Amino acid sequence: MTTYGTGSRILVTGGAGLVGSHLVDALLAKGCDVTAVDNFSTGSKANLDPHERLTVVEADVTEGLPVGEAPFDAVLHFACPASPVDFATLPVEILRVDSVGTLHALDRALADGARFLMASTSEVYGDPLVHPQPESYWGNVNPIGVRSCYDEAKRFSEAAVAAYHRHKGLDAAIVRIFNTYGPRMRPDDGRVVPSFISQALAGEPLTIHGDGSQTRSLCYVDDLVAGLVLLLESGEYGPVNLGTEYELTVREMAEVVLRLTGSSSTIEYTDRPSDDPERRRPDLTKARELLGYEPQVHYEAGLKSTIDDFVARRADGGIAVV
Ligand code: NAD
Repeated sequence: MTTYGTGSRILVTGGAGLVGSHLVDALLAKGCDVTAVDNFSTGSKANLDPHERLTVVEADVTEGLPVGEAPFDAVLHFACPASPVDFATLPVEILRVDSVGTLHALDRALADGARFLMASTSEVYGDPLVHPQPESYWGNVNPIGVRSCYDEAKRFSEAAVAAYHRHKGLDAAIVRIFNTYGPRMRPDDGRVVPSFISQALAGEPLTIHGDGSQTRSLCYVDDLVAGLVLLLESGEYGPVNLGTEYELTVREMAEVVLRLTGSSSTIEYTDRPSDDPERRRPDLTKARELLGYEPQVHYEAGLKSTIDDFVARRADGGIAVV
């Protein structure tokens, strides 16, 4: 168990993204000195408020980590486009950042004697045949499907972390993140929550893929970040699932968003994309036992604050209103 705080030097790749930027905020609040590396491909500089203990480096982690010589105490690897839209438009970039980029981040952690935390995903379970998914489940992934650039790159990253941990003695941890949402999401990133909120606020129909009976368990970003800090400080290797267990159907999500936004948008049903998982829910037993993790934020409260953020960004021009 190590507590990170004043004087701790932490490197966060992907620090300008949804999860990365909230993680940076939490580490700054603990007193850490944080370096965030990001190429702003899917994240935004606007997600990071200036702070005296924050250094922001614009760089592509697949080309290395231009972050100086002073050693870090922890390297947290979160750089990777993560939405279904990105799977279609950035498949090669995703494969590179979660292979070459991961190796660069691992090498830096090894050289510095730092703890390493890798952001993996529930997608390593593919379209799961076991429900809910425990960490011991090996998954059901289509290696050449439309999501495979992401799923297989993350599986490669996990294998790389396992090799550095097992063969080089790296102090490492793997977290498998389930469906996380919150303020700062890109309105057009194609994930279900920002899509529904953007459509509802624009008065456009909410598009549901299939009949909307497929389920997702939504985790508010603050709950995820609390779990990430617990894992970082625990010294545990994992892999550990983080998310929430409460399952909502996609149709229920659309109805909640309509109610919370007061929108009179209709709901439209379209074809399901291929390899779209039917159900996803983490088994959180290990997270509870190892970390004492317990998500706190009800989905209505989390959706409300995400909607408030979208409304504020639309008002100040941060989100284009068409
Ligand atoms: P995001 O797209 O908001 O953040 C990713 C960040 O990485 C962005 O700021 C992007 O600009 C940056 N990036 C991408 N490629 C880069 C590169 N080559 N070099 C430097 N920076 C690069 O996505 P997110 O939801 O915040 O996801 C963060 C991490 O968590 C990812 O590794 C993702 O796979 C993982 N994850 C997220 C979820 C979720 O539900 N949000 C679920 C599972 C896993």
